[in-house]
Amino acid sequence: MAFSFFGGIHPKENKWYAENKAVQPFPEPDLLVIPMSQHIGAPCKPLVKKGDYVTMGQKIGDNQGLCVPVHASVSGTVKAVEMRPHSSGTTVMSVVIQNDHQNTLCPDIQKRTQEEVDKLTPEELLAIIREAGIVGMGGAAFPTHVKLSSGLGKVDTIIVNVSECEPYIVADDRLCQEYPNEMLSGLLIVMKILGLNSAHIAMEDNKPAAAKVLRREIDPRTGIVLDILPAKYPQGAEKQLINAVTGREVPSGGLPAAVGCAVFNAASCKAIHDAVYEGMPLIRRIVTVSGDIVMEPKNLMVPIGTSYNDLLEAVGHSENPYKVLSGGPMMGAAQYDLMVPVTKGSNAVTILGKANRYAIDEAQCIRCGKCVDACPMKLMPVLMYKALQTSDVEEMKRVHLMDCIECGCCAWTCPGCVPLVLAFRAGKQRVRDAAAAAAAKS
Ligand code: SF4
Ligand code: SF4
Repeated sequence: MAFSFFGGIHPKENKWYAENKAVQPFPEPDLLVIPMSQHIGAPCKPLVKKGDYVTMGQKIGDNQGLCVPVHASVSGTVKAVEMRPHSSGTTVMSVVIQNDHQNTLCPDIQKRTQEEVDKLTPEELLAIIREAGIVGMGGAAFPTHVKLSSGLGKVDTIIVNVSECEPYIVADDRLCQEYPNEMLSGLLIVMKILGLNSAHIAMEDNKPAAAKVLRREIDPRTGIVLDILPAKYPQGAEKQLINAVTGREVPSGGLPAAVGCAVFNAASCKAIHDAVYEGMPLIRRIVTVSGDIVMEPKNLMVPIGTSYNDLLEAVGHSENPYKVLSGGPMMGAAQYDLMVPVTKGSNAVTILGKANRYAIDEAQCIRCGKCVDACPMKLMPVLMYKALQTSDVEEMKRVHLMDCIECGCCAWTCPGCVPLVLAFRAGKQRVRDAAAAAAAKS
């Protein structure tokens, strides 16, 4: 039974730009920049140096602890190992590869038969998923093998997230239409590892074509069910999705496993299939390149390391972009250097024109309370903003600033045009800095 989470908004979906565009292979660029940090956790240490020859799928970075390796997405020569701009706004150690356009496959990549896969234990499957560098591909980029191993014995409900509630983005919609069997096969592997014989695929009701394909392909004997949810932003946020599918509420500061749930992205499920059956690490992903000034919106199968600039050239735009976002317009990060590369978590590049610019003389809170009704985390954005204006860190914590998921519902709904999310991001950093300073002092 599907529920509906508290709050949320209904921004213009704008899915029509790219929803009917089949996934096309992206013509491989001459130069690729592979960041050593594409996941939450410890960055990789480069395993190659300038002048080395690398093959497609070869491991080129790894580290201990909370980390997954990164791989070469093409074959060629390492041109540099150096700091390069990253879509997070920082610079990150990266391996720059000059593509030889031969796609010479790494000899370690070996396919497995169904019989071989059936014999693999959960521990062996977890090791394969780690070695393939798989992370949450909806944007969070948390290492998948860690999510799986930490859920062992705690999780009773698996949810595959196909909400894709951000405007413009249709990458997971296309994935379900064009790669349903790979996605379902990866999900069966997740179920085997977690020892469960059922799973939910949660999809918003604005993806009828994908729903039709999945209804046709799901074998009812697998225990997989498709839940169609009324479209509402931010349904794709883990806590809201869990609430919508199960009615359970993840506690403040808690993880999904605290209420017996584990949420996986649809693209990550396909990546698990590719790793286990094809032996192929995560070196390519579907990226929706769309926006209101894009001449030819596309869904592209892109090698990791391709620059945003290459993607912009592939789709064209009718005016100078006002904003280029990594992700969608609600939670995406504005980019200032278009040489940043596509990473494992890049599901979209959204290109917006000047019609999206709004200028106001002075943002002002008129205490209307609309932000409170919209907040899916049941927070009081108006009080959080007040706490920020007084720079009172204790008050920021008291009004649960750290529970903010930065979804943007409050700012979207605010008639006073108060830049709430920007303020909350800065405030959260201030709370973290204060905690770090206190820890250093003690
Ligand atoms: S929606 Fe904007 S104007 Fe209304 S209470 Fe919240 S911050 Fe103030
Ligand atoms: S950005 Fe934060 S405060 Fe605003 S609606 Fe989302 S969770 Fe609530």
